[in-house]
Amino acid sequence: MLTFGILFATAAIDVVLYFLVPECLTCYRCGARYTGPGITDRFGGFNLETHEKHRQQAARQGQAASAGS
Ligand SMILES: [Zn+2]
Repeated sequence: MLTFGILFATAAIDVVLYFLVPECLTCYRCGARYTGPGITDRFGGFNLETHEKHRQQAARQGQAASAGS
């Protein structure tokens, strides 16, 4: 019973945060964040595949830089 209580409490917190936190645009490459009304209208939603591509590219570049020095 306590398990379900914790589950529903965190779900309720999640719903509150969904409505309170404004939408934000985040650059896949450098992580820069932009907020403001209508900022996300011109761009598609978050794509995990694109995010992973840039994350792995940055990791490879980090490895190459540390191996070269
Ligand atoms: Zn950027």
